[in-house]
Amino acid sequence: MTSFGVFAYRIRYTAIMNKLQTLEDYFGHKTFRPLQEEVVDAILNREDVLMILPTGGGKSLCYQLPTLLMEGVTIVVSPLLALMHDQVVALRANGISAAMLSSMQDMEESRKIESALHKGEIKLLYVAPERLTNAYFLNMLHQLNINFFVIDEAHCVSEWGHEFRENYRRLSLLKEQFATTPIAAFTATATKAVEEDIASNLGLVDPKRVRGSLFRENLMIGAHHRIKDGRQQLLEFLKSHKGESGIIYTLSRKSTEAVAHFLQGKGIEAKAYHAGLPTEEKNATYADFVADRVQIVVATIAFGMGIDKSNIRFVVHMTLPKTLENFYQEIGRAGRDGLEAETLLLFSAQDIVQQKSFIEDLPETPYKQHAFNKLDSMVRFANSENCRHQSIAAYFDDRIAVCHDKCDNCSAPESEKVDITTASRMMLSAILRTGQKFGLHYIVDVLKGSREQRLLQNGHDTLSVYGIGDEYTKAQWLTIGDKLLELGAVSIGEFKVYTLTEFGVEVMKGVHAIDLKKERLTVKTAPVKKKVTYFDDYDVEMYDKLRTLRTEIASEKGIPPYIVFSDKTLKDLSVKVPQSKEEMLEVHGIGEVKFERYGEAFLRVLQHDV
Ligand code: ADP
Repeated sequence: MTSFGVFAYRIRYTAIMNKLQTLEDYFGHKTFRPLQEEVVDAILNREDVLMILPTGGGKSLCYQLPTLLMEGVTIVVSPLLALMHDQVVALRANGISAAMLSSMQDMEESRKIESALHKGEIKLLYVAPERLTNAYFLNMLHQLNINFFVIDEAHCVSEWGHEFRENYRRLSLLKEQFATTPIAAFTATATKAVEEDIASNLGLVDPKRVRGSLFRENLMIGAHHRIKDGRQQLLEFLKSHKGESGIIYTLSRKSTEAVAHFLQGKGIEAKAYHAGLPTEEKNATYADFVADRVQIVVATIAFGMGIDKSNIRFVVHMTLPKTLENFYQEIGRAGRDGLEAETLLLFSAQDIVQQKSFIEDLPETPYKQHAFNKLDSMVRFANSENCRHQSIAAYFDDRIAVCHDKCDNCSAPESEKVDITTASRMMLSAILRTGQKFGLHYIVDVLKGSREQRLLQNGHDTLSVYGIGDEYTKAQWLTIGDKLLELGAVSIGEFKVYTLTEFGVEVMKGVHAIDLKKERLTVKTAPVKKKVTYFDDYDVEMYDKLRTLRTEIASEKGIPPYIVFSDKTLKDLSVKVPQSKEEMLEVHGIGEVKFERYGEAFLRVLQHDV
């Protein structure tokens, strides 16, 4: 080994030894979560990284921790000011020197940050992507000792994602200008196609690819057909979430206000949030929500992107989102602290018509067909009786087992299902016998014995399957067709032609039994049910006292309560009731830095001194 090699080895060895200590001291965690260490190591080895991990999986730590073990500054590109701001506040609360440069800072402030950067006093610098196209800024970067670049929300690079941003496309200049500086890209959602797009657009060099499971086991996911305007279903749902933080998404500005007003009338603390409100009002609502001063925000999708509030306990969609990416990202805002959270999707056929008409209005580009396909996947998901977690994972090319009890479909009692094996076999047989050349409506016509001209001309009234489908209405047969599509027993080709898959052939031969949720055939919707329990073994009184203290400290310091301690930390404190510093350091989320800041005050409450 050359002397430089020995030196590099030593640094690496020390870094590895220091990893766990840093994890504990700065972040208050005793162990890494799955995949975190792999990414931390790759970054310390100066490799490019592409990590896909669901919201709440702990991506930030993957680049923040190695930064603390490196000499220079890490540049983090992030799409949203609010997101950057929250991250900077959280880092500073953990004793880590971080800053952001954005249009929000005045000259004086920017100059101070610049000077601190030159002195090596800043470990993490957050910037918006457009800053990287600024020649002055780039020039300054060339004078700094940069550890690596972080591209947060990296799916924005891809046109095939759901949030393409032109400014992200230009990030390709990073590898052109800083060829030897590694890049670590992070996102919560990326299909394989988007993943490839990220890697090629950023010019990543043989990146370490780390894809986490999309299974969010603390999320209870449910979807129901909306009855009328869905408000009764909403009230029913909120009964099991009294006093908890949540977001309710609606489609239009008007409906955010109407739903907020409706809830206020029922004595529930809710505020509307949409792009048309004055900025001060929006900021105030955002701040109130983050600080637990307002319980529920009823919002258009303008709200919540990048929100760093870990104790959101529920997310409701009053209408169908346009893509599964959007849906997954929006529900992902719930339960980031790892505690149980619940999501409810209410949808109806009208939503589909409305979403389709939005897409119709788009200019004729390949993107338009893409948007239709994405909507179809969303609709199939909403109607599906398969495991919700598994369906989402499959959409993102991830295979996971069924969740058993973390979604409405898996936890639905058997009695709510009807056996449609025979009907499925009839339908598949009709598809096969008509030569796999027709769409679903035609197949249903055959089963129902229609006298439609085309059908008669084709001689399909002579088939054995002709007119054998009396047991179900046309609408019910269409539902059965959807179910076969969801299960992958059939696939749709050009001109919406249905063909059998290998699995479909097996179903037709009677190898598999198929069942369907009863409500789909009867159209009547089952009431919203179930209750998630959490916090079952904690001291309620103590928890409330700790929460009060947390609110006091937060408002005194002007930071959101979860930055002081997360809900999970409070829960853990009220279960373990530590009586000393040592015991307190055993608690989730409390490290040396946090203890120094807030430990004594919380200990006093825990020791019943106050
Ligand atoms: P993401 O960016 O992937 O959405 P975050 O970085 O915001 O996720 O982390 C989500 C939550 O997980 C935070 O509350 C964070 O403190 C917690 N967390 C991260 N890493 C760990 C760990 N190793 N042990 C325990 N909690 C962790």
